[in-house]
Amino acid sequence: MFIGHYAAGLALKSVEKKASLGMLFIAVQFVDYLFFILAPMGIEKFRLVENYTAINHFDLYYYPYTHGLLASVIWAVLIYGLWRYVPPFKAMGKGRVALVMGLAVLSHWFVDLIVHTPDLPLLGDDSLKVGFGLWNDFMATVVVEIALLVGGLILYLRSTTATGAMGKYGMIVFVAVMICLYLLVVSMPFDPNATVTVASVSSLVVFTLFAAIAFWLDRYRV
Ligand SMILES: [Zn+2]
Repeated sequence: MFIGHYAAGLALKSVEKKASLGMLFIAVQFVDYLFFILAPMGIEKFRLVENYTAINHFDLYYYPYTHGLLASVIWAVLIYGLWRYVPPFKAMGKGRVALVMGLAVLSHWFVDLIVHTPDLPLLGDDSLKVGFGLWNDFMATVVVEIALLVGGLILYLRSTTATGAMGKYGMIVFVAVMICLYLLVVSMPFDPNATVTVASVSSLVVFTLFAAIAFWLDRYRV
């Protein structure tokens, strides 16, 4: 899943308005951040295989520390603890904010579960691996990703109020851009020169850009 993860961030913001949308955008992709840092280092592993699924070329064959269910729970508890007890994170809102930040981290695994082929381990790498495999159906994946994101946007818009034109239209335009970018990425032909490092770094850049825009636009809604 790519843009669909942000639906969880938008939905969680709608239940706890004190949470920062930018931080939630980082939290929903937290385990992917770790994965794309660990993969070029060889600690976790994926390879690029043309048309591995209908939607992308990722053979994600070893990532128990970031995409195991057990690992996801541990990361979520860690982020919860950070926001609950440790300064300066603690200053960002305490109790409920910590809870939505933890849930945002955990949401990643469950959203990935819908689309991944059975490559998500429950415990360690040799444990049962699960995934409903929506990625094998191009159209279904695109529809679900967009529907999730638009659903999240609606929840966000209904629970917050715009403070000006930027607040009124900014997030709608941003979501439209995210959808266009997503459609562009999934329509691009396989690049035989692409490497794990290039794919990882470009993912990290996009995640960070999206989070930065969310930080900025969120200031225009209360
Ligand atoms: Zn992931």
